[in-house]
Amino acid sequence: MEPECGLALSSRKVEYIKFIFETKGTVRTTTIASAFGVDPSTITKTLAELAAAGYIRHIPYHGVCLTKTGERHAAFLIKRHRILSLMLVRNGLSSEEACSEASRFESQVTKKAVDRICHFMGHPRQGVCGEITHDDDCLEQEQGTPGSKKRG
Ligand SMILES: [Zn+2]
Ligand SMILES: [Zn+2]
Repeated sequence: MEPECGLALSSRKVEYIKFIFETKGTVRTTTIASAFGVDPSTITKTLAELAAAGYIRHIPYHGVCLTKTGERHAAFLIKRHRILSLMLVRNGLSSEEACSEASRFESQVTKKAVDRICHFMGHPRQGVCGEITHDDDCLEQEQGTPGSKKRG
């Protein structure tokens, strides 16, 4: 599945990518394992899958870091979480509820839908748990051209 559609990763992988992005630089496998309370051997398998898909790179004896593709995708994953959790807060949930609810379903929401929601929410700058950044994709979501790319 194309990473661009936003559905390429399971919710667990989404959480790992966001964690590596927010930790910045190289992250040890054991650090990720203890942060998520999972067995290091389980995490090694999942990280190998993320590496095979081109999101992360293994640095022997140091851990893993994001590739350019991984960084770009991580920025989208974080934006998606912040847009969806802010949407829930605006509908009456507390910040904590919104964050945990969004984490449960966000991996099923496409980039197209996130860009659309961002547009209809007026491109908010401040999310529940951090700043929200905007790119050409969401800023181009004008009436009548849902998700269309620039042509000609
Ligand atoms: Zn959050
Ligand atoms: Zn936006």
